[in-house]
Amino acid sequence: MVVYFVPWDADQNLILEAERLYDKAGTFSSIEKGDLVAVKLHVGEFGNPNYVQPFFVHHVVQKIREVGGKPFLTDSNTLYCAQRYNAYDHMQTALMNGFNIAPFIVADGLKSENSRMVKTRGILSEIQVSGAIVEADAMVVISHCKGHDLSGFGGAIKNLAMGCTPHAGKLVQHRTIDLEIDHTKCNGCKTCKNVCPNNLPEIIKGKAHITSEACMRCPICRSECPTKAINFVNQENICKALASAALGVLETFQPDKVSYINFAKDITQHCDCLPSPGAPIINDIGIFAANSPASIDAAFLKKINYQQLFNKPSNVDCMTQITEAINIGIPGEANPEIQTI
Ligand code: SF4
Ligand code: SF4
Repeated sequence: MVVYFVPWDADQNLILEAERLYDKAGTFSSIEKGDLVAVKLHVGEFGNPNYVQPFFVHHVVQKIREVGGKPFLTDSNTLYCAQRYNAYDHMQTALMNGFNIAPFIVADGLKSENSRMVKTRGILSEIQVSGAIVEADAMVVISHCKGHDLSGFGGAIKNLAMGCTPHAGKLVQHRTIDLEIDHTKCNGCKTCKNVCPNNLPEIIKGKAHITSEACMRCPICRSECPTKAINFVNQENICKALASAALGVLETFQPDKVSYINFAKDITQHCDCLPSPGAPIINDIGIFAANSPASIDAAFLKKINYQQLFNKPSNVDCMTQITEAINIGIPGEANPEIQTI
């Protein structure tokens, strides 16, 4: 499976470059007249400038309309409580960040209540998929490539897995990670309780305990614990869960009705979900287009030293999500051919 690529070249008109890329990759070739086409994107977190710029998305919307499709922008509400937690705040954030270029439909509804349970394979046997994703006839997945504190890397697979599932589906994926507290290191300082968005840690006899099913295995308490007493166990499980969930999402589409565009620009070590992800860690690379989420993510990783940039800080091998995706039946290659056009 070939992945097509244009380098980020400030001396070129990047919309025209993107147009050549999509034509070569056949990005819109499976869209039929009248198809309701989900343009799956991340509209940017409040205060975080690192998202795919609206004019690129506008161009994609125009191309879908040219072939007779009916594009709508979409994303699912976040598991963490910030500016995209419910549809109202999510839509406000989308407008503020410039996404008024097509209808924006929050895929899982006002309070993340709109979803369907779908069978999948791998570490998960089923996953809840956001309703508007299930109902869409076709999908163009636009992803921003960046590092991720839990899964090492976020691209197309993560965009399918976390981005197309409601709160409950995201929680299931996060909770494939186990958490343990080393009580020989814990001094009962309560920092973990104070920083937890849901105030979940309990301090019993001077030691922290985290037993709530609502714990979303976010990295906050682990990062803030002054004695490094909190550890994640089996962290690679979330990479496998991303693959399982992505497969579940794809099972709701006819074969070949989903295409992918990855933007490798403003690449940070931390995820786009943080309001302040830090400075880019490498130069902008370019735009990729393909019809496989595994291949397009692998193509990006081939262009960088991901072991050093992503695996080392996250303490997980980000290639796991790609190899697992291929293992459980998502078409693609871990070492794809990249054609620069
Ligand atoms: S922050 Fe760390 S040391 Fe403090 S109570 Fe929590 S686990 Fe214990
Ligand atoms: S991982 Fe820690 S901070 Fe995150 S929800 Fe669980 S207890 Fe709270």
